Amino acid sequence: MKIVIFGPPGSGKGTYASRLMKRLGIPHISTGDLVREEIRNQTALGKTVEKYSSSGTLVPDEVITEMLKKRIGPELSRGFILEGYPRTVSQAKELNKITKIDAVVNLNVPDSVIVDRLSARLQCKACGAIYNERTLKPKVAGKCDKCGGELFRRVDDQPEVIRERLRVYREASEPVVDFYRARSLLKDIRNEDPNVDPEQVVDQIMKLI
Ligand code: AMP
Repeated sequence: MKIVIFGPPGSGKGTYASRLMKRLGIPHISTGDLVREEIRNQTALGKTVEKYSSSGTLVPDEVITEMLKKRIGPELSRGFILEGYPRTVSQAKELNKITKIDAVVNLNVPDSVIVDRLSARLQCKACGAIYNERTLKPKVAGKCDKCGGELFRRVDDQPEVIRERLRVYREASEPVVDFYRARSLLKDIRNEDPNVDPEQVVDQIMKLI
């Protein structure tokens, strides 16, 4: 099965995608993680994409599509959960050329919940697991429950960068919803409760796909 998890920053894409990966037994590919890995390794590509990522703007379509193509190759036959891509209609068209998608899960979350969630988000440096200082605390402060890795706050999770990411989402990414709705691939999930148990949302997604 080939699934896209779509939604604004802070809608829980990464959290649900990694849980779906376990339930469905197919890999989770996150273009945001690919970007952060290049930056962490300070590659030439990492230096190019860092300025976009740290200011909350989008990496150019051609650059991010090349990064995805390199990663997705082996998964085209066994399926995947793709998160963070496509983010523009042009990327959605590119993805159409690469492979046929079975379903697009569209996470609808109010801005108030997004800002609240992102400003309390922590992520593991080693395995990428996501926590929240209020709603999804690690057992030991600052340490990942799964691998013991160090937890960090993303540079783009600061209030002014969050606002810019939301603006970019409305302008460049929301039209992707219409692209997939017109193709009858869109599965809408509504989530207004900031303290919802992620497993409950994953149950809802499993019923829709
Ligand atoms: P994310 O973790 O999905 O929020 O992505 C972090 C950052 O990586 C974004 O703010 C963008 O700068 C960049 N990025 C990730 N995926 C894409 C994409 N599909 N198109 C453009 N930029 C992207």
